[in-house]
Parts: sequence; C-alpha cells; structure tokens
Amino acid sequence: MNIALIAHDKKKDDLVQFVTAYQPIFSKHSLFATGTTGLRISEATGLEVTRFQSGPLGGDQQIGAMIARNKMDAVFFFRDPLTSQPHEPDVTALVRLCDVYSIPLATNMGSAELLIRGMEEGLLEWRNINKRDEELDGE
Ligand code: PGA
Repeated sequence: MNIALIAHDKKKDDLVQFVTAYQPIFSKHSLFATGTTGLRISEATGLEVTRFQSGPLGGDQQIGAMIARNKMDAVFFFRDPLTSQPHEPDVTALVRLCDVYSIPLATNMGSAELLIRGMEEGLLEWRNINKRDEELDGE
C-alpha cells in the first residue's frame, strides 16, 4: 500500500522514532513523504522514501493530489498543534481530502500505533478491493 509520512519540525523526531520502531511493517509498503521528513526517515532507517517538496513549498498539496487520485492508502501526519505554520491552508486541505476520500489519517503517536497495527492485521484490505474495482471500471 502507499503510505504518506509528514511531520512538522517539532514532531519529526517522534515520527522518525515511530517509523524506526515499526520498520519491519513500513518496509512492506511504498513510502511517500514531504521533503525534509522523507530525508530524515530515509537517513535514519535506510528505507526507500519517495520525497515530494517540503511542506511549506507544496509537499502537502502533492500528497493531497495523490489522495484525490485514489493513490494513497494511509496518512501519518504528525502535526504540531502548538506552533502556527506558514502553510496552514495546505495542512487543512490535506486533512480535508483525507475526510473526503475516507483515507485513514493518524495525526499523533497514539492513533498512529493503532493505524499501523491495524494495517498489519489486514484491516485496510478494503482499500485494495476499492482500487481493484476502480481498475475494472477502467479508471
Ligand atoms: P517537511 O514538510 O517534511 O519538508 O518539513 C512538512 C511540513 O511542514 O508540512
């Protein structure tokens, strides 16, 4: 499955720690990330990560575009709720698109644990069915 990884600056250490802890699971999936987050994760874990622009330069919107095309299956977005972000509208738009398309979104470590363990248990298999149906429809 395709997984998006994004962390605001003060949350990057948390996300790196989280991906490191669950590396055996993350390694089974295709990883996408905003620029700096992706660099930090690939340096720390050696995992292959497709990197988009940095968040403030459009990376959140690039991930949003994948969601809109039904190409993203889960989003781990460790937001910093205590610091205002210059690209707040992009952040809001990304969260909104997850809701529009019912894409699972974890915005903190607590929900991230549930999401990654759920993925390992196969609880996101409906995404594959959904994508297969779309392919059969020729979309
Ligand atoms: P970054 O972007 O990974 O390039 O720092 C994340 C963000 O701030 O949205």
